[in-house]
Amino acid sequence: MRTYLDCAATTPVDARVFDVMQPYLSTYFGNPSALYQEGRQARRAVRRAREQVAALLCAEPDEIFFTSGGSESDNWALKGMAFALRRAGRGRHIVTTAIEHHAVLNTVRWLAGEGFDVTVLPVDRFGRVSPDAVKAAVREDTILVSVMTANNEVGTIEPIAEIGAFLREKGIFFHTDAVQAAGHIPLAVGACSVDALSLSAHKFYGPKGVGALYLRRGFTLDPLVHGGAQERDMRGGTENVPGIVGLGAAAELAANTMQAEKSHLDSLWHRLADGIAAIPGSFLNGDKEHHLPGTFSFGIEGVDHEPLLIRLDMDGFSVSAGSACSAGSLEPSHVLLAMGQTKAQAASVVRVSMGRFTTREDVDAFLTSLRRNLNAMQKA
Ligand SMILES: *Cc1c(COP(=O)(O)O)cnc(C)c1O
Repeated sequence: MRTYLDCAATTPVDARVFDVMQPYLSTYFGNPSALYQEGRQARRAVRRAREQVAALLCAEPDEIFFTSGGSESDNWALKGMAFALRRAGRGRHIVTTAIEHHAVLNTVRWLAGEGFDVTVLPVDRFGRVSPDAVKAAVREDTILVSVMTANNEVGTIEPIAEIGAFLREKGIFFHTDAVQAAGHIPLAVGACSVDALSLSAHKFYGPKGVGALYLRRGFTLDPLVHGGAQERDMRGGTENVPGIVGLGAAAELAANTMQAEKSHLDSLWHRLADGIAAIPGSFLNGDKEHHLPGTFSFGIEGVDHEPLLIRLDMDGFSVSAGSACSAGSLEPSHVLLAMGQTKAQAASVVRVSMGRFTTREDVDAFLTSLRRNLNAMQKA
């Protein structure tokens, strides 16, 4: 039997989402651009999904653009806005943080090579970005700021509402990568003064390869995918109808179950935290207070996570070091280093990310296996 505890890497498609998607892989296969009945059916399904995603964010349907996932949404928001605003003569300065996902970090790195000026903000030891640091970093020629809603490796939730309020006042475009947060914590784009927001279906029980970009009314981005007139002329390509239907269903399900799920996960999180705290040398990575409901990252002084993760896997537990992108690479996590950890501390990180289907028994069994394997490693 396997116990899946890597929900921050990806989640299974919820059976209820799958049921809604299935007919769009067979019966309703039409191209949404077609004028006859099959096209109309597909078009209606895409429209409904747009409403469902908008509702999750307290946005309007015409502010939602479908993409191939979180990475594309991040790329599009940053490149699309950077070039549009530079062309308009607004400047070339971009501000982001040291703990962003590589979809943001590598995009701004690329933009730096295209002549943009990039400031990367530090974080504190809990992984929090200070709104004051954002205030100090913006300049006359700052065109956009990107700060993630919640971190994927350690689960820390960032003060985006405070940052957003300041940037709105300054008239600076604000993007947030909400791929870890969407569907898990309440997100109202208006209350957070966000201009653009990225999300991805497979992080909240929808299918892989589909996501969305929220773009506040009144803004226009340069397209990333040039092509046909889909997505109001902003993103070419025949719509991924089954994926989009799945994203919509997952968004609606998440909105309806979020509160109950949070209290369930809160209790599991504390149970896990108590169990880990009892292990000598253990420490929490992240913020005790501002964290995603299901994400718990920890380290143990003097323990290398690699043999530990292999042992846990053999015991049936799927947990990771926190970043699928750097798995297999020997580079220590850029997030943990930015939080001030040593390379040795960073090399002991284990991320447990629990979800909708995680039980108390799963947590207890994980703790038992962890203690047993740590003992065995000490003896070896
Ligand atoms: C998973 C993730 C992404 C990438 O999303 P994909 O849909 O896998 O491309 C981007 N940002 C964060 C914070 C993520 O967790």
